[in-house]
Amino acid sequence: MRFAITSKGDAVSNTLMLKMKTYLQDFELIYDEDRPDIVVSVGGDGTLLYAFHRYKSRLDKTAFIGVHTGHLGFYADWVPEEIEKLVIAIAKTPYQTIEYPLLEVIIRYIDGGKETRYLALNECTVKSVEGTLVMDVEIKGQPFETFRGDGLCISTPSGSTAYNKALGGAILHPSLPAIQIAEMASINNRVFRTIGSPLVLPDHHTCLLKPVNDVDYQITIDHLTLLHKDVKSIQCRVAKEKIRFARFRPFPFWKRVRDSFISG
Ligand code: NAP
Repeated sequence: MRFAITSKGDAVSNTLMLKMKTYLQDFELIYDEDRPDIVVSVGGDGTLLYAFHRYKSRLDKTAFIGVHTGHLGFYADWVPEEIEKLVIAIAKTPYQTIEYPLLEVIIRYIDGGKETRYLALNECTVKSVEGTLVMDVEIKGQPFETFRGDGLCISTPSGSTAYNKALGGAILHPSLPAIQIAEMASINNRVFRTIGSPLVLPDHHTCLLKPVNDVDYQITIDHLTLLHKDVKSIQCRVAKEKIRFARFRPFPFWKRVRDSFISG
């Protein structure tokens, strides 16, 4: 079996990365940064986001494992004290995998130029470069509303505990193949109206955002922020690809939610 390890880059994570690398090689696993079967991310949820984007072209061949060197994470749920146990489990146990849904974002441009396709593990956010974001929102091919406000956040179930939660979105269990649209400070008065509630769409529904006047946007895909010019539309739906995590023990999602936000 081939493996790779990504580190957050701080001293603690780097030391742990080297230790795990040596232990796994002692068990005759092969270190291969280009074609790993298993990717171990050492750091936090942010580190796993980076690892996901690095290996997103081979999701069907890769299983992820997250070790956290800070606070408990949603993707990084092993602690440094457990790494000997984890290494033995990786080397000796035929591991099970669980899959989480991803978000597909397709951005099309006015000049008919090449469209760009992204996969997000947490979310995509859309903000205007200057002033209020004004976008027509279509759901499943039907006009839904004209959104005016700071921005929109379209998240995956596993990303629902990140930015989406800060916006008052619901926490979705990652076994649900769905995406969630949450508003950022919408303008609501006698003239302008938005739904005001987060919306959860199933995997056969598509959400299309169409510019009303401005065409330049600041769009983030997880940690990556890019300026997109001359945007014609932004299409979001549940991706056909999924991320796979190697599971060696049960760690129920709602327990992680409780431990992270209520009492850990
Ligand atoms: P960052 O600003 O350095 O960290 C954002 C925080 O979000 C970190 O504490 C990170 O945990 C945590 N996080 C990441 N994914 C999560 C998840 N699925 N559930 C719960 N918490 C999660 O940025 P970053 O490390 O590059 O991560 C990018 C993410 O930051 C974005 O995808 C977005 O979700 C989030 N973000 C949140 C807000 C907000 O809550 N107001 C605003 C902007 C961006 P670790 O410490 O374990 O890495």
